[in-house]
Amino acid sequence: MSEATIPFADRLDRLGEVAVRIGLNLQPGQELVVSAPLEAVALVRRITEHAYRAGASLVTTQYSDDEATLARYRFASDDALDHSAQWMADGIARAYREGAARLAITGSNPTLLNGQDPARVSRASRAASRASREAMEIITRFDTNWTIVAFATTAWSQQVFPELPAEQAQARLWDAIFASSRLEAPDPVIAWQQHNAALHAKAAMLNDRRFHTLHFTGPGTDLRVGLADGHAWAGGSERTTNGIDCNPNIPTEEVFTTPHSHRVSGHVSSTKPLFHQGTLIDDIRVTFEGGRIIESHAGKGEDALRRILETDDGAARLGEVALVPHASPISDTGILFRNTLFDENASSHIALGQAYTKCLFDTEGASPDDLASRGANMSMIHIDWMIGSDKIDLDGLHEDGTATPLMRKGEWV
Ligand code: ZN
Ligand code: ZN
Repeated sequence: MSEATIPFADRLDRLGEVAVRIGLNLQPGQELVVSAPLEAVALVRRITEHAYRAGASLVTTQYSDDEATLARYRFASDDALDHSAQWMADGIARAYREGAARLAITGSNPTLLNGQDPARVSRASRAASRASREAMEIITRFDTNWTIVAFATTAWSQQVFPELPAEQAQARLWDAIFASSRLEAPDPVIAWQQHNAALHAKAAMLNDRRFHTLHFTGPGTDLRVGLADGHAWAGGSERTTNGIDCNPNIPTEEVFTTPHSHRVSGHVSSTKPLFHQGTLIDDIRVTFEGGRIIESHAGKGEDALRRILETDDGAARLGEVALVPHASPISDTGILFRNTLFDENASSHIALGQAYTKCLFDTEGASPDDLASRGANMSMIHIDWMIGSDKIDLDGLHEDGTATPLMRKGEWV
């Protein structure tokens, strides 16, 4: 069956099924907490049905509405922006602690907050990060199964295809989401099992090599990213600490690990714009010394970038380095998605902020101080931005300085 002959309702149902069976691998009796834009209700309904069929004990969805979010920035007082629904964040953290799975649907307007005062935006997002700190720790430790999938909202579609009428723009974006999420294979579940096996093999190859440092070079980039002591490469499905194999991102193309928070040096330029919480930050150029960003510039959104870097001690250091070949189903669409879930899976990237404990070997019983001494960064934020392109070369360096070519012009050697 070609993609055009699968009716939209069936493709949406497939996305719901893949989200529940592959993304979450939801277990019988498990609770599920969903967050979604209001417009994604049709997908939420498909997910909810598949979750109950898989044996969910309860599905609870929390909807967000771009217009209501905007009203807050327009009309709430400055002081009110320090307020967050701690009671709700506590409840969600408690649900995860007690074994609930988490599914997030992304797709809000990528530049909703452009034009709002960056000081007010950062005040509110700081308060929100503080409130959800415990929940985020549970997620980054993979103490429960979680996934993120996308819904092509009207506002997002129109920003990706501004030249098209609204309906066509949305149809084009859906085509790209379905194709890159591997939903058009005769059996998407089998396609995902094969894709996971390929990503696991790539991660295993990198784990065998035990590189000390990754060296990225290209236009505007000469960056050495030291890797954390006992770093572990991951990609594709992940096993949670309670033994459930989930796929945290649908789609995904990356293999990634934990950099050493104090061993990053050199300079790097972004290769795609970053759309962070409704704000566009573009043409980023930063310099690292001793793991920390000591100089930062952005062609657009420099103020927003500076505020991100000032969030806390770990915000100007790296918590992730990820490798993605230039040729991939997402990248091959040639689309700038203006959404991190897609753009980070079309390009090698680094992330400011919190590291994934999963990306370290032998962490059982390790305290936060133990992890930090091995190089794992800690922060309230985790923001991925893209540094890969068809002009970037990558070498793996061993401690004695010997170099192994890993990527040339953006492709695996
Ligand atoms: Zn990543
Ligand atoms: Zn990341």
